[in-house]
Amino acid sequence: MTEPLDTKQALLAEIEILRAQVAASEQAVAEANQRLDEFLSIVSHELRTPLTAINGNVQLAKRRLSALIIADGIDEEILEVLDVILELLSRAENQVRIQNRLVSDLLDASRIQANKLEIHPEECDLLAIVRKTVDDIQTINPLRTIVLDLPPSENAESIAIVADPQRVSQVLTNYISNALKYSESEQPVTVHVAVKDQLVYVYVTDHGPGIPPEIVAHIWQRFYKSTRVKAQNGPRAGLGIGLYISKLLIEQQRGNVGVESTPGEGSTFWFALPVKQ
Ligand code: ADP
Repeated sequence: MTEPLDTKQALLAEIEILRAQVAASEQAVAEANQRLDEFLSIVSHELRTPLTAINGNVQLAKRRLSALIIADGIDEEILEVLDVILELLSRAENQVRIQNRLVSDLLDASRIQANKLEIHPEECDLLAIVRKTVDDIQTINPLRTIVLDLPPSENAESIAIVADPQRVSQVLTNYISNALKYSESEQPVTVHVAVKDQLVYVYVTDHGPGIPPEIVAHIWQRFYKSTRVKAQNGPRAGLGIGLYISKLLIEQQRGNVGVESTPGEGSTFWFALPVKQ
């Protein structure tokens, strides 16, 4: 049975109106997204400038104070006060470090959107990057156990890759920081390196809450934060962009990322990069 002509025309007209509405909504979303990205870019630049100054001043004050503390002839009572001030400055420095990380992540996220993320590859040693990164994180988290499990030394004094060492360290820092943040203070975090099929793998294992399977697929998305996985300690602040940036940084250097996680047992986040031939 055929539709009467005017019903058909009315339906076609209705479809046209709906199409136009969908197109207008899509354009509005795209414009709103672009405004958000511009806003992110301005905010992160504006936040960074005073932070850099605060950081510089805190470090200068710490250096001056440390020099004073080891100088001869300082009264015991004054020394005690100076020690307390030094401790307070160290805490401020720690908070500035956290804030700096958040602002850098914001900047990176806005650069990714604008296709302006900079990666400077060079021939470098992955093992040296891993050792230095673990060392730095251990220094600022002296009470946590971070186990470094490297390949047997006869095979691996060094592992050459062509990558941006700072960006590789940024990804590893992000994995380890998450591992520390999402697991209990007494639980160790292990960093393991292995070479397989021309790829070098870096695994970061924690004994935290693990990630429910229905959430795993989302954690690499921009601004994704699960309300079901709670930070166990350390800074609660997080923007939900660390893993998004990590994935992009590794993929842009011809690598892969992934995670294996068992709820109630823990997670292993990994990335792999090609070994230089
Ligand atoms: P953030 O940690 O700032 O929220 P990320 O992008 O680093 O952002 O991580 C995204 C989400 O992935 C987190 O909110 C958390 O739900 C989950 N996640 C990341 N690392 C772990 C981990 N080691 N254990 C459990 N959940 C994790």
